[in-house]
Formats: sequence, structure tokens, C-alpha cells
Amino acid sequence: MTDNIPFNKPAITGKEIEYISDAIASGRIGAGGPYTNRCASLLEDLFAINKVLLTPSATAALEMAAMLCALEPGDEVIMPSFTFVSTANAVARMGARPVFVEIRSDTLNIDETLIEKAITDRTKAIFPVHYAAVSCDMDAIKEIASRRGLMVVEDAAQAVNAFYKDRALGSLGHLGAYSFHDTKNYVCGEGGALCVNSPELMERAEIIREKGTNRGKFLRGEVDKYTWVDIGSSFIPSEIACAFLLAQLETVHSLTEKRRGVFDFYCESLKPLEEARLLRLPVIPAHCTTNYHMFYVLLPDGPTRNELMAHLKRCGISSVFHYVPLHTSPMGARYGYAAGDLPLTENLSERLLRLPCFAGIGEGDMTRVVSEVSSFLEARALTNRPAGPAGFSG
Ligand SMILES: *Cc1c(COP(=O)(O)O)cnc(C)c1O
Repeated sequence: MTDNIPFNKPAITGKEIEYISDAIASGRIGAGGPYTNRCASLLEDLFAINKVLLTPSATAALEMAAMLCALEPGDEVIMPSFTFVSTANAVARMGARPVFVEIRSDTLNIDETLIEKAITDRTKAIFPVHYAAVSCDMDAIKEIASRRGLMVVEDAAQAVNAFYKDRALGSLGHLGAYSFHDTKNYVCGEGGALCVNSPELMERAEIIREKGTNRGKFLRGEVDKYTWVDIGSSFIPSEIACAFLLAQLETVHSLTEKRRGVFDFYCESLKPLEEARLLRLPVIPAHCTTNYHMFYVLLPDGPTRNELMAHLKRCGISSVFHYVPLHTSPMGARYGYAAGDLPLTENLSERLLRLPCFAGIGEGDMTRVVSEVSSFLEARALTNRPAGPAGFSG
């Protein structure tokens, strides 16, 4: 009996306990201590970001971003339907309306050529999502936004240490959100950051994060007492989480290299199946550098995906699909959407399967994954006709 292969296992780099012990010994475990500051500076320096505010999650960072966009009931925000709920929730909880746009079949990112058509006089912002840490077409998106006077908030939750034309994802919009959740590349259990790229948003960002007070100014000695000045909430992580996170961020390059090894191994080994048109590998445009956050394949159709997933499960291999498109969800229905509205998004989502991909996965396990995927698809190709009259497409 072979061991089960998990879908994900957070990488531990070795210094986490030392840094947490140090934080405890120093007596500073609340918010805004030295580890929080070191994480923020490190991210600012590594990725040339104007200002980084650590948060308890990317969800919190997106919520802050929606507040900073000053969204009002009835306002509209353009985003893909193919994303995690937090992108849309951040907008919905302001009373604003997510407007879902189709994705591109190559990168699975929002189709920038369809954005302009979705703009109305209620549109306030575009929330592009960098799926699998492969950048959206940010030049096109920023051009539309600046011409139409819209805010750009990057959901870069998966995209820490990924780049577009040598600029870090998260640093390109007015605001950007990072995640350090357990399932991402660089982790602290639950954690995130808001990248504040527009300097004029900084003062309000700090106030929102400090429960609506000007405590930041007070701590810098700019005012002699602090008080309630705006709407806010508690969007600050603890020092304990940031102590853990610093250990991860200090090894950001070696963690990425390990993932690159996994990604390249899968690409190389599954290439023959792509050539036989039994699956499609991820597409990374030339001007994009990924952090190898995930490894997914696209199968010819939904039933093949589901059967392959079930087969892998029987072999003790965890694989997962992604995402149930938001426009087909019960909340999507509340905004007037229904299945069939975004056919490409629905089709791609039905055919996508994510394989186990994490920094510590061994070559033996990857070989087992590849051999189970290959034998399943090859056997299926022998018994079935090729999918559809035109074979595999997309
Ligand atoms: C993971 C993820 C989030 C949420 O991140 P949390 O830190 O768990 O809140 C948001 N958007 C996308 C695209 C994600 O992948």
C-alpha cells in the first residue's frame, strides 16, 4: 500500500519557531511590532511597492481596498467570475455590484478586450485577478482604467513574487492584495497584505486598518492623542503571525525555486499527453514570470475531468478543481446571473484539474501522479472517440 499524496503541504523553512520564541520573549505579541514592520519593509524592498500594510488575510486586504475605492450602493466593479469569493464579497459588502466578465482561454484571466463593453456610468473600479500567479494584461487594463477614470485593485492573493514585464504583481494597480494563507506559496497560517501603490490613499488606508482612528499618526508623534476619525475595522495581524511570516519571506527565492522544479517536472512529463491532445498545459505569456503557485491541466471535457479526479482519488492522490464560477452561485443569482451567461468561464472551470503542487513534494510522488494521469487518459483515449468532432480544443 503506497502512501497518500496530499494536494498541499505548507513548507516550513526552519526559523519560524525561533522568531516566534523571540517575539514572545520580547513581550511584544500584539500588532505593529518589529516582525510586522520587518515583513512590510521586506515586501516593499523585494517588490518595489510604495507601502505594504500587513493584514490578517487577503480577504481583509480586499475589503480595505473596496473601502478605499469609496464604493457606494449601486456602484459597479468589473471582475472575472472565475475567482475566489473574496474578490466579489469585498465589493458586495459595500452594497456595490460585481459585474462579471469572461476570461481568456489561455491564461484564464479576465479578458481585457471585453472590459470596456462592461463599463457603465456606475462603474467605479476594475478588480483583475492574477490566476495561478500569471499576470493579467495589466497594460491594457491600466490604459482603460486611466482613460475611464476607474480604480484598479489587483487580487494578487496567489501572486506574491510574480511579475509582469519585470514589475511585481500587486504593485501595478492603485491597490493590490496578497495572501499568506496556508495554501499559498509563502504562508503564516492566515495572513495577507494590502499594497498601497497610490500615495494619496495611504493616510486613509492606515486609518481604516486602525479601527477608524488616527493611531498611526499618534504613534509617530504627529498628533498628541488619537481618536475616531473615519469608518474602520481591525485589519491588523498579530506579531506571532508576522514572526512566522518573516521566516518564510526571507527564503522567498529558494521556496520559489523548489516550486519551479515541481512545475517544470510536471510540464516536461505531461508534454507527450499535450502532444497527443489528451490535455492542455498551463500557458505563461512571454512577458509574465510566475511564482509557480499552482499546477493545473485542462482536460478535453467535464466528464473526463471528473473521472480523472475520481481515479486519482482511488489511487490516494488528492487533486482539486477550481472555481465554481461566481455567476453560477446562489449569490450570483441574487445579482441576476445564471448558468450559461459566461460559457467560456463555465467550460474552462469544468475542465480544470489542479495536481498536487508544493515545495516539499518528492520526485517519486510526482512520478506517481504523472503515471496515473497518463495511464488513465491513454486508456480512455483507446476506448473513447477523441473528444468532439474537432478533437481537443482550447
Ligand atoms: C486565496 C485567495 C484569496 C483569499 O485569501 P485569504 O488570505 O485566504 O483571505 C482571495 N483571492 C484569491 C484569488 C485567492 O486565491
